[in-house]
Amino acid sequence: MLHFEKEISILEQEHLLRSLLPIDSFSPTTIDQNGRRLLLFSSNDYLGLTTHPALKSAGIEAIQKWGTGGGASRLISGNLRLYTELEQRLARLKSTESALVFPTGYTTNLGALGAFIQKTDLILSDRLNHASLIDGARLSGGTFRVYRHKDTEQLRKLLSQRKSTQRSFIVTDGVFSMDGDIAPLPELATLAEEFDALIYLDDAHGTGVLGPHGGGTCDHFQVSNRRIIQMGTLSKALGGLGGFIAADRLSIQYLINKARPFIFTTALPPSVVAVAIAALDLIEQAPGIRQRLWKLANHFRYQAQQLGFNICGSETPIIPILIGKAETALVFSQKLLGEGIYLPAIRPPTVPEEGSRLRVSIMAIHTEEQIQTLLSGLEKIGKELRVI
Ligand code: PMP
Repeated sequence: MLHFEKEISILEQEHLLRSLLPIDSFSPTTIDQNGRRLLLFSSNDYLGLTTHPALKSAGIEAIQKWGTGGGASRLISGNLRLYTELEQRLARLKSTESALVFPTGYTTNLGALGAFIQKTDLILSDRLNHASLIDGARLSGGTFRVYRHKDTEQLRKLLSQRKSTQRSFIVTDGVFSMDGDIAPLPELATLAEEFDALIYLDDAHGTGVLGPHGGGTCDHFQVSNRRIIQMGTLSKALGGLGGFIAADRLSIQYLINKARPFIFTTALPPSVVAVAIAALDLIEQAPGIRQRLWKLANHFRYQAQQLGFNICGSETPIIPILIGKAETALVFSQKLLGEGIYLPAIRPPTVPEEGSRLRVSIMAIHTEEQIQTLLSGLEKIGKELRVI
């Protein structure tokens, strides 16, 4: 349409045009594209569960038993008892009284932030928060203020300037999705106590990955606090689809009644719920998968730094290779394709201006050889493009 031509050509000129590339098939660590097998380092399937036999059979069995769709919203007739089981298991993982599943992580953030936060409330949001947190916070109509990434001093200042009648929400990623570093949760919890604020913690990338039990950022810091509302996804380490809130019973009851993206949408299919339960079984019973993920991630992170790459303070299996200009990041990514490595460039608006990067996600099922191939490719092209 003529109307959009100008916008598209601006995106093209700025090297910011995005397009969908069909993938013929994937195993968790490789993809097939146009007849070529490429090593995959950009999936959030951290534990490699998307093809795990236990998850596959749980999904297939659920389809055989209950069919393919939810049929209606949870509040009408879609609320299979399986949901109760999943929500109890999620509450246990997160050490909370209760939990509520939404269709995706994105709609969880829209729904929960939109319901919890009123127009008169103050929202304090980390500068590097995920887009769905920003969208949810904006949708709520509350006063939106951004603090510098992990800067608890600036946060303290903003909290102390709030109106005395104003309820405050500190909104943060647990693991930052593009930098792979971890929010300073103990300090945030202290501030929340001091200023009577609530914390909304998006643990999309922490759930199943961080902490001795895979419980996420709270488990990692051993922080438990009724002021923290924990959000998570079933779509990343848990290998399926969906999002959830884990919190006290009253907050969950409130969401069931007030969160429009929960109320006015169809229940997830039973197979998706069954897959999530099977993933939680593995997270509880097979900690070796998580340990291997950390061993590989720590190795890659150390080696990438040794090569001279800027990895933006990564502390987790998300390890960015900072490039800077969008154009250079695109060229780097193209050249990696030539080496048989699939690692798309991440550009604004997903990351700040001059913050274009290659975002490496390590998976527990990568082999040592695959990681070495990636390191060699990064070193070769990094030198060629004078990134290192
Ligand atoms: N929060 C964060 C931090 C994310 O990275 C993502 C997905 N990229 C989401 C929420 C949305 O989750 P989902 O993909 O399950 O909708």
